[in-house]
Parts: sequence; structure tokens; C-alpha cells
Amino acid sequence: MPTVFSGVAPSGVPHLGTYLGAIKNWVELQKDHQCIFCVVDLHAMTVPQDPAKLRAKILEVAKIYLAAGIDPKKSIIFIQSHVKEHAELCWILNTIARIPELERMTQFKDKSQEHKKDVNVGLFDYPVLMAADILLYKTQVVPVGEDQLQHVELARTLAERFNGKFGEIFVLPKALVHKEGARIMALDDPTKKMSKSAANPANYLALTDPPDVIREKIKKAVTDSGKEIIAGPDKPALSNLLTIYSLLAEKPTAEIEKMYQGKGYAEFKDGLAEVVVDFLKPFQEKFNGLSDEHVLKVLSEGAAKARQIASQTMEEVKKSVGLI
Ligand code: ATP
Ligand code: MG
Repeated sequence: MPTVFSGVAPSGVPHLGTYLGAIKNWVELQKDHQCIFCVVDLHAMTVPQDPAKLRAKILEVAKIYLAAGIDPKKSIIFIQSHVKEHAELCWILNTIARIPELERMTQFKDKSQEHKKDVNVGLFDYPVLMAADILLYKTQVVPVGEDQLQHVELARTLAERFNGKFGEIFVLPKALVHKEGARIMALDDPTKKMSKSAANPANYLALTDPPDVIREKIKKAVTDSGKEIIAGPDKPALSNLLTIYSLLAEKPTAEIEKMYQGKGYAEFKDGLAEVVVDFLKPFQEKFNGLSDEHVLKVLSEGAAKARQIASQTMEEVKKSVGLI
């Protein structure tokens, strides 16, 4: 079975974009892939984190994986910092990554704008750590949202460069981006992606938002000019809301447009709010039913399995570059 690797950083608030762009597709991949899903805590540290909150977020992300349907019997679920090889391989890849390559990364450019006073070396190096995450497991498929394509491309470049210099150790990974849901936009600004680290909670529909908050946020969501419920390039806000509706209700957009023919934005938003609330209800029930103890056990078993693969790759890497 081909190997899949992906992760979510335990920072900010996981939202519908995280689910629709990434986790929803992971659940499907479990059927016929060897899947490895990681809570990438070392990545979260590239922007300022409060230690107590970070600890809570790490468990929250793991619970989100499990509540969404990631099955520890089929997939490996673990915390990045529990497998030291991630940081170790990152260092070795740092010695072949080039500064201009990292300077080109749009996430680095955006995030260094947001955190002007704390542009730390980790933020700059984020894509190399991500390459290490992927390459350690000889991953073939990396299911991500569109914003991560550039990083997966870099992982490929580094794998190719490493193999060229030191021998065929790494597999060249490919990003898997689903057209629908690859870029869920912010509710308060359809030109920006829905983001965990957004300062304004009106930006996102959090997976942990209670029903009244969901209804309120959707009511206040920005819409486009016009009255009709139709998707189109001139209607970015409405198109985004229709995409969310379509993916959660598992109905094609055209069918939803038909359902709301002759009806206004208010009615459409009410309908969408109910679809989101109906989706989140069982999800949140599962999420709230997971004990920290159970989740920690799953994560520890996952780390043991991940370590086996990672340590073997690291052995090969060390030998090939001339380390004793
Ligand atoms: P941050 O703003 O802190 O970077 P994020 O919302 O981008 O947070 P990540 O943990 O960086 O979340 O990303 C987790 C996964 O979710 C990645 O595969 C990413 O591509 C995907 N993803 C994130 N935001 C969206 C979105 N708005 N639409 C679709 N997919 C998304
Ligand atoms: Mg991100």
C-alpha cells in the first residue's frame, strides 16, 4: 500500500477549512493506504505559543483526528516531538536546503509579516522540517490544502538533491489536493483563506464552535452583490459558502443552487447553518467523549510504530552522508 503522511499544527483553532481541505480526505485514504497522521507540535512553535495552551492544543488536535474518523487500528497517529528523528533529519536536510529557496516560500513571507517582531529561524526553516516529516516515512502521497503545495514541492526538490548527492534513499513525494475544498476562504474576507491563526474569530467556523456561534457567524458572513444563490468567479463569498454546503451535505453545487432558486441570502444562510450544525453535532459528541488518557495511549502506541520506520530511515541517511 502506498504511504501517506500529513499533519496539522496544534496552534490556533482548527476549523472547517482544516477538515474539508485535509482531514476529510485522510479518512478516505485509510482504506487503501498506509497512513501516518502527525500532530506537528514542533511546527506550532514557529509562532509564539503559551506552554500550557500548547499542551492542551496538542491533545485537541489528536482528538479532532479521532473524532473525524481517523482509526488508530488502520493509521499511525502520533506527536511529532515524540519521534526525535524529525528534528534530526531536519538538521541534515538544512545542510542541502538553500536560503533563496526558503525565502521564496509564501507562507514564510505572510507569517513573517504577521509576526514582525518575532521572525525566528524556526519560522524560516518550517518547510525543511516539513520535508523531514514527509521523507522520513518514504511517503508517496501528501494530502494537503492548496496552501501547502509549495512546501511539498520543496520536499520533492530536497529528496531529489539528497538522492543525487548521497544515493537513492528517499522516495519523491506527491501532493494530493482535492479540487473541492482545497482552499476554503475566510467568512469575513473571501480573498483570504480560512486560517487557524486569524486574529478575528469571524474568519473561521471552528470545529469546536457551539451551534449558536455557528449560526451567528454564518449570518454575519460577507456576501457578494446580487440576490441569486449562484456560484461564480464574480461571487467569491457565495461560492465559498456553496462549497462548504456542498461538501458537508454531499450534494453537488448545482443541486443546492436549484434548491434556493428564487430564495434570498437569508434563507440560504439559514440552510447552510443547519447543515454545518448537523455535521458538527455528532463530531463534537465524539470529540467530547474522548478522554485525555485514551488519546495519550493512542499517541504513545502510534509513536512507537512511527519510531520504527523513522529510525530505520535515519540509519540509512547517516550512513550515506558519512556519519559514523
Ligand atoms: P495557520 O494559519 O496557523 O497556518 P492553518 O489554518 O493553515 O493554520 P495548518 O495546521 O497549517 O492550518 O494546516 C493543516 C492542513 O489544513 C493543511 O493541509 C492545510 O493545507 C489545510 N488547510 C488549512 N487551511 C485551509 C483552508 N482554508 N482550506 C483548505 N485547507 C486548508
Ligand atoms: Mg497553515
